[in-house]
Amino acid sequence: MRSKLVWGLFIGILVACDRLPKLGPGNEGQNKLASAAEEDCGFVQNSFGQRVSWKQSLPIKIFLGSEFTTDYETSLREAAKKWEEAVGRTLFVFERSNQVFTTARDYRNSISISQTWGEVDRTLQAVTSLTWYNSQLTEADIRINAQYFSFYVDKPSSTNEVHLTSLFVHELGHILGLKHLTGVSVMTEILDYLLKRELPTEQDRAHLKCEYN
Ligand SMILES: [Zn+2]
Repeated sequence: MRSKLVWGLFIGILVACDRLPKLGPGNEGQNKLASAAEEDCGFVQNSFGQRVSWKQSLPIKIFLGSEFTTDYETSLREAAKKWEEAVGRTLFVFERSNQVFTTARDYRNSISISQTWGEVDRTLQAVTSLTWYNSQLTEADIRINAQYFSFYVDKPSSTNEVHLTSLFVHELGHILGLKHLTGVSVMTEILDYLLKRELPTEQDRAHLKCEYN
């Protein structure tokens, strides 16, 4: 049935090792689904072990909140291109909106830049939440923590800034259904200050092709 997962991206030493995927709520068995488990390929899996993705529902339409600056949008589009070049197809369509978006379930995918992040999980750079039904993703929302983090586009102006495109590459990876990985991947859980990590690795590309080709 319907399941939801929220991912956070941490910085530096503030690693939360307990953020493992929460698979389905345990009632998916009522659905008489084909229950064959699949190789994870780096994807979030439902409680049957099936990969969760957008399947044929591409490109993914994502609304950008009214607070999106040109820098944010430029970096986001650059990040989207990295994934699209990896699979050779259009994966995302962005639409600017005058509305303010949250990660609440509203059947619209969105990215918002939050200046009012709040005290809970203030060490998170961003949070992506995914909602799926069976193995089909139905909604994804990204919230960027602009209250406690500063971001840079090309050149940082201090040593504690986060590379915006790298951050978006990671969060868009989650939107595609990818989970955190260890090793050489843009999906590792930590993005250190200043680090540029914007090119999906060979492993990331191979993973993506399990679901999108
Ligand atoms: Zn993450």
